[in-house]
Amino acid sequence: MSARATETPEHPKTSEAATSSASPGSPASPASPTGRPSSPGRPPGLTLVSHDGTPYRFDPGALCLELLPTGGPGALARYEVLHEPADLVAWAARSRLPEGLEVAVSESEVRRVREVRDALLLLTADRAHGRPQRPEHLDALNEAAAEPPLVSRLTPDGTRAWAPGATGTHLLSTVARDAIDLFSGPHGHRVRECAAHDCRLLFVDTSRPGRRRWCAMEHCGNREKVRAHRARGRLTESRPPARSTTEG
Ligand SMILES: [Zn+2]
Repeated sequence: MSARATETPEHPKTSEAATSSASPGSPASPASPTGRPSSPGRPPGLTLVSHDGTPYRFDPGALCLELLPTGGPGALARYEVLHEPADLVAWAARSRLPEGLEVAVSESEVRRVREVRDALLLLTADRAHGRPQRPEHLDALNEAAAEPPLVSRLTPDGTRAWAPGATGTHLLSTVARDAIDLFSGPHGHRVRECAAHDCRLLFVDTSRPGRRRWCAMEHCGNREKVRAHRARGRLTESRPPARSTTEG
C-alpha cells in the first residue's frame, strides 16, 4: 500500500459501504459470471455484487471511474482486486475500452495503477463533495497522463483495433487522460456519490435531465424505496387513530 493511502484519514468510504455496494472480490474472479469480457452491444459498466450476493450493473459513466471500485486506500484496501498483472488485464477487458486490447502488464505497473487509482478515487470524492482538489492527487494523475496512452488504429474494413505493444503504463495514461477530460469537460460538475447513506460509489451523471442519484436503480434505488416504504409504515402505525375533521 502506498503511503498516500494510509495518510488519508478523511477518506469518505466506510468498510460497510464497500461491503454492501462494491465488494470487489467477485468482479476479480475470472471464473465468476461477473468476469465476462466485453462483448459487442453490452451496455457499458461493471457487474458488482451486493453483500447478499446479488449481482447488479453499475455504470459509473466514464472509463476512469470504472477503475475506482477495484479497491482503494485506507479501509478499502481489504477489497483490493488488482493484485497481479492478470487482474489489471481482466479489468481492461471488462471496462468500456473497445475490445481486442492485448496489454502486457508488469508487477510494478500494477502497483502504480493502484497508487494512481487511490489518488483518483480521493480526487473524485473531493469533486463529488465540492471539496478542493488536493495537489498531491492532481500530481499523481497528471504524471500518469504524461505517459503515452494506448494507441488505436483504423483497420481496412473500417473497424477499430489496438496498436500492438500496449503496456500497463499506456493503459494507465489512457485512464488518467479520461479523468482529465471528465473533470474539465461539460459533465465535470456532475460527478456524484450515490445518495444511499451507506454507499460511496462514485459516478458521473451524463443523463440529459441530470437527476441521477443512485449508483444503480436496481440496487441502491430499490433499497431506498424499500426503506422509505418501511419508514412510512412505521409512521402510520405510531400515529393516533385519525379523527374526523368535524371534531377539530
Ligand atoms: Zn449506491
